[in-house]
Amino acid sequence: RGLDDIKASGQLLMLTNAPFPPYEFYAADGDLIGVDIDIARRIARHLGVELTVSIRPFDELLPALAAGEADMVLAGLTINDERLKQASFSLPYIDAMQYLIIPSTENIKVLEDLGGKTVGAQAGSTGEEIIAKAIADGPLRKTGCQLLALADPAEAVAKVLNGELDAVVVDDTVALQLTAGHAALSATPLFSQSGAMLSEQYGVAVAPSNPELLSAVNEVITELKNSGELSAKIKKYEAM
Ligand code: GLN
Repeated sequence: RGLDDIKASGQLLMLTNAPFPPYEFYAADGDLIGVDIDIARRIARHLGVELTVSIRPFDELLPALAAGEADMVLAGLTINDERLKQASFSLPYIDAMQYLIIPSTENIKVLEDLGGKTVGAQAGSTGEEIIAKAIADGPLRKTGCQLLALADPAEAVAKVLNGELDAVVVDDTVALQLTAGHAALSATPLFSQSGAMLSEQYGVAVAPSNPELLSAVNEVITELKNSGELSAKIKKYEAM
């Protein structure tokens, strides 16, 4: 679907995965809200169409976009080389890094501290990939570290609380939001073996066949960043 098709249909089709607070999560009344939803709504308004949001498992988002089932993906989605082979990405709109959700009695800081631990991560996420690589040929090789794929990062809270998992690797703001109000859990940055932050940037993914939509997305992102609205939205949804 090109921009003309989108305008003719009156619908901009977005895919995401929720809950991933503060980017996409459910309000008390069941409405899907968050930073990504607001950005997407602004893009739709810029194009003069309605936004339609559908939920998919996280690891199916880019394949569905490639199959032409939607126009864009906003899902706190990190831009990386692997994904750039499957989709075009907008300008970055969020700086993120990998965090751990752990029992507050634990002291885990660098990847190799996860030796012998059972670690959860969202299936298909960059957090999962970092742990899988560290187990395959990095600092966690032959350390007995086990990686468990989670369908949903919100599972982290219950599974770390009941001891099924020793730690969950997930993006910073999401870790902070999921652990808020749980005194028995802490959210703490995860560093590489050399002590570097595991930094990432989020982008909006668009089908490579739709450069006109990509330009429109970039215009909206630039405007939201420059006006300060993006930071205001992040603050607002983090406080919910
Ligand atoms: N930013 C991470 C990634 O892109 C996690 C995103 C998510 O789980 N929604 O893989």
